[in-house]
Amino acid sequence: MERRTRGSVMNAYLKFIKRKWGKEGLEQCLSDLGLDNMFKDGQYYHNEIHENLLRWISREKGLEYVEEGGKFVIQNLGIVAWMVRFANVKTIVKRFPKNYSEIYTFGRVEIEYPDEKHITLRFYEVNFIEEACTAWKGVCEGGLEMTKTKGIVKETKCRRKGDEYCEYAIEL
Ligand SMILES: [Zn+2]
Repeated sequence: MERRTRGSVMNAYLKFIKRKWGKEGLEQCLSDLGLDNMFKDGQYYHNEIHENLLRWISREKGLEYVEEGGKFVIQNLGIVAWMVRFANVKTIVKRFPKNYSEIYTFGRVEIEYPDEKHITLRFYEVNFIEEACTAWKGVCEGGLEMTKTKGIVKETKCRRKGDEYCEYAIEL
């Protein structure tokens, strides 16, 4: 199945690049990747474009900025960001699998909330490149930050390393 991602994700990454490295940075990225800046939030595009944006950030600026990008994106993803601001972390985590499948046409997410101190997120067939694994770590961190929740995020299993899914363990 073809993997597709909503334009809102591309727009959020492009906004991040512009915020971080200015108009010149944004123009360089668009020209390097052969893109125009015409993504529509609600429309689906090849996920490859999303991956190429992550690769560009990593290659040109460093992998740590991919994590920062993920953090920025969850905080700037329109309706998701708006909703998160008014909810606690438990509510967001509960809704996250559904939110995920509204934005991406591939893969799925499972969550576990075994006790007050731990949240586990499992991403099945979501991450195909290292940068994607890193970006999702940033997304988790961004979610914590937005809800003013202190916690540590670790990727404890990885699809790219032979596990069935990428697993992010959050310790609150
Ligand atoms: Zn992974």
